This record gives sequence, structure tokens and C-alpha cells, in this order.
Amino acid sequence: MSDIRDLASEYKWWTSYSGFTAYTAIGTNGSVDKDGEPIERKIKIHYIVCPVCDGRGSYTNPNIDRQGLSREDFDQDPDFAEDYMTGRFDIACALCNGNSTIPEAIQESEREEIETLLQATISYYENEY
Ligand SMILES: [Zn+2]
Repeated sequence: MSDIRDLASEYKWWTSYSGFTAYTAIGTNGSVDKDGEPIERKIKIHYIVCPVCDGRGSYTNPNIDRQGLSREDFDQDPDFAEDYMTGRFDIACALCNGNSTIPEAIQESEREEIETLLQATISYYENEY
């Protein structure tokens, strides 16, 4: 069973970003410059609420509740229940790194290109699990 949290970092299409610009290797076919450094494309971006953590910046460690928790899990262990509720098992979101937002390409053609690539990656991982 796949969990969005396990795949969170697979949604990272950028290598870095700041302000209104993100850098990515998408669509460069692994080309390198004369120094052997990967050539990166510049993408104009804006920011959207992170879809993995819904803008919280963190989530419960998937190792704790990946398979789902039941009423009994909490009833049998009140300490665990309290820790769970107060977010003791929370870890920083693997996609936004706790920033609660992620960059998104402004230009539609670039956004579609990125979307297509991400879908391919995600379905590859989903078939692996
Ligand atoms: Zn996030």
C-alpha cells in the first residue's frame, strides 16, 4: 500500500528555487555544460499550498500510522494516544521541508510538462510497492 507521505519527495521537480525562479533538470535530457555540470532550466514560479501536508509543514511519521490506527490502538495505550494527538510523532514534510508552500510553474506549458513527468515517476513507484 502506498502512502502519499512516502512518495512526497518524488513530487520535487525542482533542484532549487528562490523568489520567482526555480531551477530544474526537467526537459534537459541530462545535458551537461563544458565543465560537466548539469544544465538546469530556469522556470518562473509562484507558490501554492503544499499538497502533501496541506500547508501544515509537517505530518505524522508514516511509520506510526501508515496502516491506519483504530480506536483500540488509542484505548489500549493512553500515553500513545496523547503523544499522537499532540504531534509528538510529527516530522517535517518531505516535499516542502516545513515551508508549507511549494513552487509551481506559472507558464501552463511548463506546468503540464512537469505534471506529465511527475505522473510517470509516481506511477513507477506505485507499481514498485
Ligand atoms: Zn508540505
